[in-house]
Order: sequence, then C-alpha cells, then structure tokens
Amino acid sequence: MIMNESQLRDILHMFTDLKDRSQFYKKKFEGIDLSTIRTQEDFEKLPFTDKGDLREAYPLGLMAVPESEIVRIHSSSGTTGTPVVIPYTKKDVEDWAIMFERCYRLAGITNKDRIQITPGYGLWTAGIGFQAGTERLGAMAVPMGPGNTEKQLKMMQDLKSTVLCSTSSYALLLAEQIEAKGLKDQIHLKKGVIGSERWGDKMRKRIANTLGVELYDIYGLTEIYGPGIGISCSYENGIHVWDDYLYFEIIDPVTGEVLPDGTVGELVITTLRKEGAPLIRYRTHDLTRIIPGNCPCGSHYPRIDIITGRTDDLVKVKGVNMFPAQFDEVLAAVPDASSEYQVMIDHVNGKDQLTLFFETDVPPEKYLEVEQEVLARFRAVVGPAIIPKAVRIGDLPRSEKKTNRIFDNRY
Ligand code: ZN
Repeated sequence: MIMNESQLRDILHMFTDLKDRSQFYKKKFEGIDLSTIRTQEDFEKLPFTDKGDLREAYPLGLMAVPESEIVRIHSSSGTTGTPVVIPYTKKDVEDWAIMFERCYRLAGITNKDRIQITPGYGLWTAGIGFQAGTERLGAMAVPMGPGNTEKQLKMMQDLKSTVLCSTSSYALLLAEQIEAKGLKDQIHLKKGVIGSERWGDKMRKRIANTLGVELYDIYGLTEIYGPGIGISCSYENGIHVWDDYLYFEIIDPVTGEVLPDGTVGELVITTLRKEGAPLIRYRTHDLTRIIPGNCPCGSHYPRIDIITGRTDDLVKVKGVNMFPAQFDEVLAAVPDASSEYQVMIDHVNGKDQLTLFFETDVPPEKYLEVEQEVLARFRAVVGPAIIPKAVRIGDLPRSEKKTNRIFDNRY
C-alpha cells in the first residue's frame, strides 16, 4: 500500500523522540539513525518487530510513556510461553473505542441496537473492546462473556438482542442450539459481528442462514489495540481497515520483501498514534492481501482480504505448501460436505499422509461417494492425494475459543 502523506507525517513525528521514550526501540534500532528515515522506501528498510521481541520485553518493557500515563494493560495468551503485555494510555483506550464504534457503524449498527457480547473479558482484549465500542456508539451492551450457552440463549430471547458478537465457532454452536431447540422464532438477531479466527464461506452461510443474520468480520490483535482495527462491509469483499491509525504492509513471509497490492502474504502493521506501546513493522503472521481499488460501499478506507490463515499454519505435505483456506475451498465446492473439518498429518512408512475428516449429512451408505468427490476436488485444487473421511454433523469438536483444525503429528 502506498504510504500517504499523513501516514508518513505521523511516522516521522513518532520517530523524533521514539528512542528517548522507548527502551524497547532504543535497543531494537541501535545503530539506526531514525532522523535519516524520510520516505516510504527508507521506512521499508527498518527491521520487523516480532512477537518474540515483545515477549522479551515482558512484563512492561514496551512502555513508551511515564508509568503515570498508563491506565490499563492487556495481555495476549501465554499458551506458547511468556505472555506479551501491552500498556495503554487513556488516549490509546479512547482511540480503540473510536475505531470500534466505526466498525459498528460500518456494519449498520446503531444506538437502537442491543449488542450481546460473548468474547471473554479480562486480560485478553476481546470483550472489553466490544463493550467500549458499544458504549461509545450509545447502544445497549449485554456483556455475557463466553460460555454458559443456556444463559446466552435466555438473555438473547428475553432482552431481544439484535447483534451477536462472537467467534465463528461459538456463533455456529449457538446457531445449532437455536435450531435444535426450535428457538428461531424467539430470536431477534439481525447482525453478527464475528471475530478472531479464520472461517470458510460454507460456515458463514450456515451461521447466517440458521440465525437469519447478516455477518461482519471484525479484525484485530491484542498487540495492536485489539479487535476493531477493521471490519467487513455489507458487500462482503474484504475488511476495511483504519489507515488513519495504522499503516499496513504485505510481505513475503520467507524473504521479508514487501509485496505489491493484490498479492497474498503476511500482514505487517505499524501504529501511527499509539502512545503506550507503539509498534513499528509488527509481523502479525496473518495471511491476507491488500485489495486494490475502491469498494462499492463507498467507504474510502482501504481493504485487506479476509484472513486466509496464519504463516505458522502453513503446512508442507508431500512437498506442497498448504493453507487452511484451501481446505475450506475444497469443501465449499462439494455440495454434500459441510464446513467443519479436521486435518491429521502423519508420517507412515516413510511417506506423508494427510487425512481430511469432514462432516456431512448424507446417510453412511453414501459416505464413499462424497469422499471420492472430496478427494477429486482436493487433487484439482491442491494437488496431492489424501485420505478423505466423512463423519456425521456434530462429530467434530466445536469450541467457544479458536478451533484448531490442523494437527501435524509428524514431528
Ligand atoms: Zn465496503
């Protein structure tokens, strides 16, 4: 994406005292004179920041203002070791709420709506971001947090919630419960704001049809404010992102080279206004592309594509690189296959073996037929032969959190 004048101005402004304010960047940019950075080209020579760097700064090494200005911290999950702690100033918290309100408005949500928030509250940025945006918009928040599906459904009916905020797998679980219990007539949902994991078209259609709602993808990550730094519009052709707060680049995840608009690669984000913990060229490990051109909705905010996977999800099987989005694509093309799947990769007798479990509602005597279709489609889209395995709808795990679908048992 071409860096516009105001983005360049914000970055140069940030650089004037960044090394004085931030011990983290003083160390990171040691030997680099930031005053020599004058153009986008100069900027693109700066090193990337990665999650590992942020972990090393644990607990408060990212703080770039005096502690008296910090009003809150958030932390990303520590499932893979030391967590990352991000300090926020009052202005950072406000800016995040402004961006979140903008998301709701772009999705056509107003102060007349009642917004049921199922993402978690706490160290994690999810719930509180949805909440702050709701309050700033002037809508009514129903702050449920995750889990307790019975209670979710009761509040949804009694309070006539019109908007559901959730992960895609929890939205699917709720939709299936609503269908199973025959509650559809008592549900008043109109829109779903779905965040924090990658999901296929088929899953989207199932949730949308079962709940009878329009769905919007919200994007964000704890290191960069949290959810709410972009959202899809009703044209469903990408996610509008707030380029007045953030600068976006797409790079080749292997070489680090900046890729032209339209090419899929890893999303890299620079904060333009963040005070508590500014981030320069932060590698998100999310795979997407910048969508060239204007959106028919008329919004002037640029777009990235729906996240198609993580650079760490990229698996190499039989010498072929595979993205999770390709499994979605294969299943979407087979009418009798549902959206839910699980992939097991093993090494058997010196060879890679990929088993693709997918759900279907055809009777078991027809499994072989559907499996053959999935195999043929997979060979056409991805290449290598796999072992397709049909299972009943509901047999694969659903989760309130992110669902891991690919299990690599080779190492
Ligand atoms: Zn649009």
